[in-house]
Amino acid sequence: MDRLKPRFKASPLAAKTQFRKALGDWFARVGKDYPWRRTREAYPILVSEMMLQQTQIATVLGKGYYMRFLEKFPDLESLAKADDQSLLKAWEGLGYYRRARMLRETARAILTNHDGVFPDDEAALLDLPGVGHYTAAALLAFAFGKPSGLVDGNVSRVFSRIMADFSPIDEHAAIRRHRQWALELCDPTSPRIHHQAIMELGQTICRPGRPACEICPLASFCECAEPEKLPIKKPPVAITYLHEYAIFCRDSAGRILLHHESGTRRNGLWKLPLRSASDFAKIEPAYQSEYTITRYRVFLNVYLIEDADSVRMLDGDAWIHPDRLHELPLAAPFRRSLDRLVGMD
Ligand code: SF4
Repeated sequence: MDRLKPRFKASPLAAKTQFRKALGDWFARVGKDYPWRRTREAYPILVSEMMLQQTQIATVLGKGYYMRFLEKFPDLESLAKADDQSLLKAWEGLGYYRRARMLRETARAILTNHDGVFPDDEAALLDLPGVGHYTAAALLAFAFGKPSGLVDGNVSRVFSRIMADFSPIDEHAAIRRHRQWALELCDPTSPRIHHQAIMELGQTICRPGRPACEICPLASFCECAEPEKLPIKKPPVAITYLHEYAIFCRDSAGRILLHHESGTRRNGLWKLPLRSASDFAKIEPAYQSEYTITRYRVFLNVYLIEDADSVRMLDGDAWIHPDRLHELPLAAPFRRSLDRLVGMD
């Protein structure tokens, strides 16, 4: 452990100026260039923050989701007017589709209640639908250049280590304390850069598991002797295992039976129709996969049904020509299964 042990000299709160300078100098040398860091416009920053809440930067950027979404909905007005189908299609692949609808609600609220101008104070931002403490703090810092209590998972990990804070980071008291530290430690002369820097330090140096203390610019401010043991989290919520039994069936015209969801967490999305396990007691699935959503681990089984007349149609089921598959918003696990099954049958 000695190799990793930081060379502690002073707490960041006792040496704020030196702490800010060390962080700022490091970021000036290695800081990454992301599209949302090149703008001060609140709208694209809001889009990036919503996307990044539950999706990795590599996915959001590498697969082009961010730029495509902004091309399709370049401003609040275009997003506010978006219908469900085009909105969900633009979000397809990012998962957690509630974020897309919330983003549209936020756009509508800004247009209706703020004449289309983003508010720049925390209370008004928190009043917007879909905007919580994290998003409000991100907008304050990145769009309006104000110090804020901006704490994401990376920052929280840095704080818990640097302050040797052994309380669970997901408890309310720790969340409030970390926000206060973020605010107090922020460099008032360059809040945008400061907040970006500490987030990036968490991503690249003070990583989960084994941090790179040897090259950390904040090592002399870090109280923690065994950083691998931090952060502490509350015990995880138990995973629930689910099985889904879906059918893949074509009619005589080659159309595929799909189901349009309503009233569920995938409201508005399309998927293969689900049926009960007992329908398939003696049949082998043609396709199987596993995916995780929140606290669920789902085992998806898809069965080929050759006789379209034998299929019991349910509300929301519809025959769809394969040429239309690319325009429909499909939940990712079902998009993958269709990619495999179309052409295989
Ligand atoms: S990487 Fe993290 S744990 Fe290591 S010295 Fe830096 S802040 Fe402390």
